[in-house]
Amino acid sequence: MQIPFLSFEYMNREIKPEIMTAFEQFFDKSWYILGTSVQDFEAAYAHFNQTKAAVGVSNGLDALHIALKCAGIGAGDEVLVPSNTYIATFLAVSYVGATPVPVEPDIRTYNINPDLLEAAVTPKTKAIIPVHLYGQACNMDAIMTIAEKHGLKVIEDNAQAHGATWQNRLTGSFGHINATSFYPGKNLGAFGDAGAVTTDDEVLAEKAKVLRNYGSQKKYYNEEIGFNMRLDECQAAFLSVKLKRLKEWTALRRQAAVWYNEFLQDCSSVITPSTEQAATHVYHLYVIRTTQRDALQKHLANNGIGTLIHYPVPPHLQEAYKGFGFTARQFPVAEDLAQTCLSLPMWPGITKEMVFEVTGQIHSFFS
Ligand SMILES: *Cc1c(COP(=O)(O)O)cnc(C)c1O
Repeated sequence: MQIPFLSFEYMNREIKPEIMTAFEQFFDKSWYILGTSVQDFEAAYAHFNQTKAAVGVSNGLDALHIALKCAGIGAGDEVLVPSNTYIATFLAVSYVGATPVPVEPDIRTYNINPDLLEAAVTPKTKAIIPVHLYGQACNMDAIMTIAEKHGLKVIEDNAQAHGATWQNRLTGSFGHINATSFYPGKNLGAFGDAGAVTTDDEVLAEKAKVLRNYGSQKKYYNEEIGFNMRLDECQAAFLSVKLKRLKEWTALRRQAAVWYNEFLQDCSSVITPSTEQAATHVYHLYVIRTTQRDALQKHLANNGIGTLIHYPVPPHLQEAYKGFGFTARQFPVAEDLAQTCLSLPMWPGITKEMVFEVTGQIHSFFS
């Protein structure tokens, strides 16, 4: 049995007629940039995420960049980020001229460890970017408390966790202004690049709208040095169709995770994901850990099973950050995760038989 790491087949089959209709309406309307499809999606996504506003932008990295700008983060500032995040979190901090300061994750949840945050705060610290990694909500109570105490802005990176909750409240609704991605493979994915910022602060939302559109509110009048970081009309129209299915598709991801947990329960060589009591997980990725990761990945590949590593090199050890004075073993939790993590096939529509086959191959590898 061939089992890819990710398949769009089930989702695309479900929505094909609606997507074709959305495309036809878009085509017939001949309005390509910042029209009613973007407005409608923004309203729908704000409603979904329970925030006052959502502002559609070009992708998740640009959403982080705009969010940091709106939060007033700039040159000379320090921003606390998880040491085991995707590079985008670091890059956005660098774009605004600030310095990313890595903080190690909790080894059980893989999310930034709130107990280590305060030790990393200096007089230059201006913000924290919690990343709800793999789809599990961070401990937002602890993070917001520390942020308030030190006067820090919070910008959630919600690229992997659409619909996840902490104490029944949605990720992407805690921070002052938050960023998300609709990259095709994300839980809510466009048919190309797309992203959004979410916020309860209507002044910040307006600022984000100005920044994404050349720093302009009135055409050809520019208030500031803005960007071209707009969400496409046609992607917005497609996203509105997919958003309606998100809860149902998240339930299918959770069902697959339950099967994985069950079938791997007696496999003492692998560590399965663990979710904190107050958190929910939307399983953007189902990540296991084993010291024999590379050999296991090879075994699975030889048996037709696709896997990926999120992520093989932590940002502080990337070539791009070599000028920052980071050293090997400076963030050992992130480095150990990079050596041991493996993301198994996960998508809405993966069957119990497929999960049984993947876990069967894992059992046979270890026996
Ligand atoms: C995907 C992702 C991003 C960036 O999103 P793009 O749309 O690819 O720019 C940022 N942060 C995290 C945690 C991500 O997973």
